[in-house]
Parts: sequence; structure tokens; C-alpha cells
Amino acid sequence: MNSPRIAIVGAGISGICMAVALQRAGFTDFTIYEKGADYGGTWRDNSYPGLVCDVPSRYYQFRFAMNPEWTHLYSAGPEIRQYLVGVAREHGLHRSTRFDTEVTGAVFDGSAWQVTTSEGGTREFDFVLCATGFLHHPNRPDIPGLDEFGGTVMHSARWQHDVELTGKRVGVIGTGSTGTQLVSALAGKVPRVVMFQRTPQWILPTVNRAYSPVSKRLYQAIPALGQLPYLFNRAAFAVFSQGLVHPGRVRRLIQWVVERNLRSVKDPELRRKLTPDYQAMCKRLVVSDRFYQVVQRPDVALVTEGIDRIEKDAVVTADGQRHELDIIVLATGFDSHAFMRPMAITGTGGRTLDQAWAEGPRAFEGVMMPDFPNLFMLVGPHSPFANHPLTAVAEAQSSRIVGWLRRWQAGEFATIAPTGAATDRFNARMRAAAPSTVWTTGCQSWYLGKDGLPELWPWTPGAYEKLIRSTPDPVDYDLRQRVAIGK
Ligand code: NAP
Repeated sequence: MNSPRIAIVGAGISGICMAVALQRAGFTDFTIYEKGADYGGTWRDNSYPGLVCDVPSRYYQFRFAMNPEWTHLYSAGPEIRQYLVGVAREHGLHRSTRFDTEVTGAVFDGSAWQVTTSEGGTREFDFVLCATGFLHHPNRPDIPGLDEFGGTVMHSARWQHDVELTGKRVGVIGTGSTGTQLVSALAGKVPRVVMFQRTPQWILPTVNRAYSPVSKRLYQAIPALGQLPYLFNRAAFAVFSQGLVHPGRVRRLIQWVVERNLRSVKDPELRRKLTPDYQAMCKRLVVSDRFYQVVQRPDVALVTEGIDRIEKDAVVTADGQRHELDIIVLATGFDSHAFMRPMAITGTGGRTLDQAWAEGPRAFEGVMMPDFPNLFMLVGPHSPFANHPLTAVAEAQSSRIVGWLRRWQAGEFATIAPTGAATDRFNARMRAAAPSTVWTTGCQSWYLGKDGLPELWPWTPGAYEKLIRSTPDPVDYDLRQRVAIGK
């Protein structure tokens, strides 16, 4: 039977998931292009001290590769990376992966994709599957004097492990999940930590614990047992997600919990500084077992005055105070709207991705775009991102893509893209649902697009999985046979 030639761009969570799904469906003619030197994506790039996934390990994993070896309820970054590398190796993906090879461009020539890489060559594929993630271009803030700082400046996602921390005064700019994890980990290990906060965050309390050797042995003996905590967590996250997308009891309960948590900060002035003026979950909720403890330490300072400039040895805030430092860590997030850019992608009629996304990233059901036939995205625009495991999203989307590949193989079509009308309808429905979500209740966040509306799925992740695993409605698609292409 005709086997499609497939390019997967990216070897992080969704690229690995997609490749395994292809293998399991019998599609073997695929090449994974990875610009980095190893598997893991965000879990390869991020290696800062204190990196822990705030989704429980037994849920933040693929259902086809349940790991009995998790050491903690919430696993540390290196353990997750090791898991992902392990899944890739176990499935022999290295035979199909080209590391250190960046896809620089992809042009649809009317019947196939011409894919260009940093190696200089061009190869033809029937399908391009973009598994590039969305939190991979570090946001370097435009702060005057940053380049003149005499010590070390590093972004959290580009941790320089050769920089000695002992005896150093460290400044952390940013109070998102990364900033709070970093400050929690550095406090007590360096003589002084200064956290520069532009906007306070609500913090959901949690407790991390190590799994006992007995429970580990049990999961090793009966791997299928892993399905139970997976399903339990899925149910718990389903309840949580109600609070994200509907005003009501769950949202109020979470607000109550985070407000109570904040009361653990004893100094009223510090508590005032840490109190957000927006609802919990409006920004991505930060989950921490120790941030409020740590921020009360005498060797940790919370600076809420805006940063005016950076000098050779200090950050200077608007009130004229100099905060002398040896290291500045930029925990300032990512350009979350880039997705597969800067890849230069050109679809039918010479339409470029930048043109298609002039008003912001748009996709049909998070996986496809009109005018870009046979191009699929994993964890693309409008996927359910918020505090939800991307492993689950990638598994659901992979199954949808495999479904289309089977239909291609059966000769139902040569090229497929959603229609512009279906994409407009989908986007209009999303926009209409946005006001019910917590993300539009009055805060700035990376979830919001140019128009101030959230760019992520505004319903529950469960509803997304149901949709993406259902049979696609033919009216939404433009399916063409080869003879019709270009006419
Ligand atoms: P982020 O949530 O985008 O936070 C960036 C922080 O930097 C914010 O506090 C922001 O302030 C601040 N900032 C940006 N530019 C600044 C400037 N010029 N001056 C001062 N402050 C500035 O980034 P992140 O913490 O790296 O997290 C990004 C995402 O990664 C998370 O939302 C999450 O999805 C993921 N993540 C997950 C985990 C996990 O445990 N699963 C851990 C880390 C990260 P404002 O709020 O005022 O904009």
C-alpha cells in the first residue's frame, strides 16, 4: 500500500508522541527533524534549579508508556526529560531522527511539501507535522542597560551550568511558574536572592512527596496499575478546568484556597505586595509547596518597584534603589505566539504563514489551517494549554492525524485542508465563548492575543479530547484528489 512520506518537526513531547503513534499505525516512512541535540523539547531546554512539573507525574505521561519509576508525586525536570528520552529510545526513534537539523522552510508546491533544512538540502514530503511547541523562544526583556551588566545574565530556559552560584547574589526577574520555582530553589543556597516582581501571582498550595519503594515495586510488578492514578488525576483536572472556563463554584473555591494560602505570609506589608488584583487562574496558576515560606526568609527580598535600568553591578529600580547582584536570571517567559515560526511556511497560492497569521495564530480545532494542505500542528493554536498535561493533548491530536493519514492511504484524498469558512466558524465560536473564561477577567497573560482575547481552547480539555477523537465532519474540509490540485 502507498505509504505517505512524513516530516515531523520537533522531537519534544508532541513530536515523540506523534512518531510513536505513526509507528503503531504502521506508518514507517517518517523523519523527525530536531534543531537541538537530543529529545525532550521544553524539558531539554529548561534545566534551571528547582524545575518541577506542576502536573502529577502519573498524569503527565503518555498512556502508551506508563512509567512505574516516577520518584515523586511531582517530578523534577531531569526525570521527565529522562522519561521522554527513554520513550523515544525504546521505540527506536533515533533511527528516524535528525538532530541538530532545523527546518528553515516548507513550501507546498501543489502536490507535496518541499522541506528545507539548516543542512541546506530540500526533501519532498506528503505531510508535514509541526510538533514545535509554543514555549521555546525565550522572551528577553527590553530593559535599558541589560547588555552592560558585568555579571552573568541568563534566561531561565538557557541555564548556564558552568556558572558557579556559591557565594553569589542572584536576581530573578519574573514571578511566573519559573520565577517562583527558581526563587524557591535558590533561597538558602546563595547568600541573597532578589525577586523582581512586576505583577504578583496567586499561588495554589500543594505538597510534593516521594513515592515509597513499596509503591514503586507495585507499579513495576503491575504496570497497568498506572492507569488508575492517571484516571483519578484526569477526573480531578476535569473538575479544576470547570473553574477555568465557567464562572461558578469551582472558580470561587480555588479563589478561596489561594487567598487562604496567602494568609500564611505573616508580614502584612509583604502580604499586600504579594496580593494580585485579579482573579486566580486569570494568569496561568502557579503551583508551589514552598514559595510563600521562602519569600519570608531574611535572605530573600521581594522588590515591587519597577526596574528602571541595569548598571554594571546592579538593578536600579524606579525609586532609585540599587540592588547589587552578581547574577541576573530572566524568568521572563517566552514568545508564546510564535508556534512553528521562524520556519518560513508557504501554502497554496504562495500564501505565507506570516500572512495567514497577521492577526495572530489561527487554526482549525488546533491542528490544521486553510491554505496549508497536508500540514498538521500538534499543540497548535487553540489547543487546551492551561495547567493541562500536553501529553494528553498530543495523544488525542496524534490519533486525529493518524486517522487522516489512513484515509489518505485508502485513496480518499491527495490533499486535505479545512475550509476557510469552517475555520472562521470555529474561531467565531471560540471568541463567543471567551468571556466566560477566567482568562478574560482582567489581567495580562501570554494566553491573550493581539485582540485581548485568549488564544486557547475556551472549553474544558475533556470537550477538546472528545471533539478531536470524534469523526471529522466532511463539510469542514476541502479534500482534493491529485488531478484537481492547482486547478
Ligand atoms: P511567564 O508565566 O510568562 O512569566 C513571565 C514573568 O516575567 C512574569 O512575571 C512577567 O511579569 C515577567 N516579566 C516579563 N517581562 C518583564 C519585564 N520586562 N520586566 C519585569 N518583569 C517581566 O513565564 P514562565 O514563568 O517562564 O512560565 C511560562 C509558562 O511555562 C507557564 O505559564 C507554564 O505554562 C510553563 N511552565 C510550566 C511549569 C510547570 O511546572 N509545569 C514550570 C515553569 C513553566 P507580568 O506578569 O507583569 O507580565
